[in-house]
Amino acid sequence: MKTLVLEKPGHLASTAVPEPSAPRAAEALVRVHRVGVCGTDLHAFRGRQPFFTYPRILGHELGVEVLAIGADVTNVAVGDRCAVEPYLNCGHCIACRRGKPNCCTQLKVLGVHIDGGLRERFIVPAAKLHPSRTLTYDQLALVETLGIGAHAVQRAGIETGETVAVLGAGPIGLAVIQFALAAGARVVAVDVNARRLAFCRDRLGLAATDLIDSTSTDVVARLGELTGGDLPTTVFDATGNPASMAASFNFPAHGGRLVFVGLFTGDVTFNDPNFHRRELTLLGSRNARSEDFRHILALVESGRVDTTPWITHRAALSDVPDQFEGWTHPESGVLKAMIAVTD
Ligand SMILES: [Zn+2]
Ligand SMILES: [Zn+2]
Repeated sequence: MKTLVLEKPGHLASTAVPEPSAPRAAEALVRVHRVGVCGTDLHAFRGRQPFFTYPRILGHELGVEVLAIGADVTNVAVGDRCAVEPYLNCGHCIACRRGKPNCCTQLKVLGVHIDGGLRERFIVPAAKLHPSRTLTYDQLALVETLGIGAHAVQRAGIETGETVAVLGAGPIGLAVIQFALAAGARVVAVDVNARRLAFCRDRLGLAATDLIDSTSTDVVARLGELTGGDLPTTVFDATGNPASMAASFNFPAHGGRLVFVGLFTGDVTFNDPNFHRRELTLLGSRNARSEDFRHILALVESGRVDTTPWITHRAALSDVPDQFEGWTHPESGVLKAMIAVTD
């Protein structure tokens, strides 16, 4: 069975490994059709992903087919096409007990902490499979990225008609924008990359005036102009950039919310009077929950959200070792690379 292993930073190797064993009672054996590549994978390839150990089989954005199920499995059947919730939680820690398995104290993410889906077949807990009768494997593999955005929007509790600002229009920021729009918000996008801002206008329907190029614009002043002096009531940072995250405390309205979706390994500092004067609510958002996956599948099935235009690059599994390095360069224009593991 073909497998792709990230042996060490910069070294992806095609190897053959034995077939997985039969699924145990609560497990399913799945065939992997599509694997989306995201920033986490690119950082791991470059050796810049914190807490990452090698060798590792990457792949946490998965479109799979159920090949066999264990005796206790009832949520999926053989032949089902599924998205995979790649967050394996312990089930008994304080976060799990309170309905927040996405931030389990023992969380293991497929393709990050344990081996993921860049292989033809593997075993997953069946409860982590979310089937759809109508979606393609491409669409199913895009659900996880969407989940990050959906969860962040759910955390913020967006109300219809509010103006939100999204800092960073990469895949995670685009996912936040999609769900903020679905929640009825007006969205202002802020990025350093004019091409990404144009994508927000052309693909997500943002008004041309609601795009802010932060390389040439005073962001606070422009956000004020766009909101009659109020500033946005919710601001999402999807950059994971320390300077952006520090500056983001200046962007929400008084009484507003600031949601950190992107992350980096370091400290964020802020001015306390600035934070207090506004009575800001600061929220972290990590991964997504099962409810988010079901919500997303419904939105994609109904056509309200379609992310297949995000796929800018494609490769078969055997071509990935040659192509992966190129995807790590911003000038490649990668928004979402999609790997076909099997057809
Ligand atoms: Zn990802
Ligand atoms: Zn737990």
